[in-house]
Amino acid sequence: CFCQVTGDLDDCACDVETIDDFNNNQLFPKLQTLLESDYFRFYKVNLNKPCPFWTAGSHCGSRHCAVQPCSPSEVPEGIRDSAHNKYSAEVNEQLDECERAEHLGAVDVSLSAETREALLDWSKHDDEAERFCVVDDEESPDSQYVDLLLNPERFTGYKGPGAWQIWNSIYEENCFKPYTVRRPLFPDTFQSSSGSEARSFYSWLEGQCVEKRAFYRLISGLHASINIHLSARYLLDDSWFQKKWGHNVSEFMQRFDSELTAGEGPKRLRNLYFLYLIELRALAKVLPFFQQPSLKLYTGRPEEDGKHKELLLDILQLARSFPLHFDETSLFAGNEKEAAKLKEDVRLAFLNISRIMDCVECFKCRVWGKLQTQGLGTALKILFSERQIEALPTSSAQRPRFQLSRQEIVSLLNAFGRISTSVRELQNFRSLLAEER
Ligand code: FAD
Repeated sequence: CFCQVTGDLDDCACDVETIDDFNNNQLFPKLQTLLESDYFRFYKVNLNKPCPFWTAGSHCGSRHCAVQPCSPSEVPEGIRDSAHNKYSAEVNEQLDECERAEHLGAVDVSLSAETREALLDWSKHDDEAERFCVVDDEESPDSQYVDLLLNPERFTGYKGPGAWQIWNSIYEENCFKPYTVRRPLFPDTFQSSSGSEARSFYSWLEGQCVEKRAFYRLISGLHASINIHLSARYLLDDSWFQKKWGHNVSEFMQRFDSELTAGEGPKRLRNLYFLYLIELRALAKVLPFFQQPSLKLYTGRPEEDGKHKELLLDILQLARSFPLHFDETSLFAGNEKEAAKLKEDVRLAFLNISRIMDCVECFKCRVWGKLQTQGLGTALKILFSERQIEALPTSSAQRPRFQLSRQEIVSLLNAFGRISTSVRELQNFRSLLAEER
């Protein structure tokens, strides 16, 4: 049993050493190179969307929260041209053809009956129903490209009630939890909203079905990853003549040491590994989609684009070769009706979480929060589209039933890049702690 989410919450006997070795020595270096490419470094995001749930406080005034959007000339034309980037160029042409045909109420009679049927069938396909997260309207004038390399995820100083409110609502309202959190936030005990019975959060969680436990662990893993990043790229010196960023071991220990967190820290790190395995599994599964010759990582520079597609395929093959993959078949595996209902519950809860990201007051945190929830949402979409991915057409005349937009591709790889970096950072912290002793 390797990291299956059946049984007790802590049955995840993750073989941490195997993951560390695979990630740190093989996958991480390749992924870093890929994420430095133009295709992956520019992420389009709308930072001006209002918070849909509460009146958010004024935007965080910390200069470390500021984000510098790109001027149009900084972004390659091929990326800015959305006609190339919704889907691959070839599929777009077919889509246009189909939309035209639909508009005119007719289809091209020169096409075979099978192709016509496939085109019309695809035109009915609704992306929204498949999505696990809200995507920003790329055509909105408020959406801007951000260069992720120039705006790295690191310590920003965002903390206190604003940040807690975000984490609290994510856990409280979206983890299917029937208990309200007692003050102070996130204690180990929860009080039933219907009575005075207090019980351990973990004993409550263990009584939940596999999917709900898995969902909680994904969110907790994401939370752990963000807090590892801010500890690894901490502002160590903020004097007027220099800025020094680096590892802050005591910050890390306060968040993850077993004694300092009453045993919670190690569980949170295990959740990070759980998240790693889920996203790695999605990468392994999506390989056939990227193997389609018509799928291009289009920036308008064919030589570079070809090289980066090769590197991406190499990474996905590597993900496939990982020997201890998470087995997601146990998820949504019960009675068909119940499974579909649960899957929809998870999808809607995840959509909600992606909306909460518009309430994050620190812009830098908001960019990375949106990117990582979108990336995880894309990973879930992949995991639950196995049949559609397997049925990808071999001929370009047929319309595929599974698609990823550039935004989804960029967020998927960058989100996994964050988790992979966190796993790598854990090794750095271990070495620093060993030196201190
Ligand atoms: P918090 O991390 O705010 O956690 C609140 C409570 O949740 C803790 O007291 C604990 O009981 C519980 N908890 C903590 N970790 C976990 C876990 N892994 N699983 C389950 N429960 C947990 N700060 C930056 O400096 N840089 C960033 O890029 C950044 N990005 C952020 C993105 C988002 C979306 C959010 C909501 C916050 C971000 N922050 C960032 C803020 C950061 O995550 C913390 O909220 C902040 O540092 C305050 O930390 P804290 O010690 O008060 O506990």
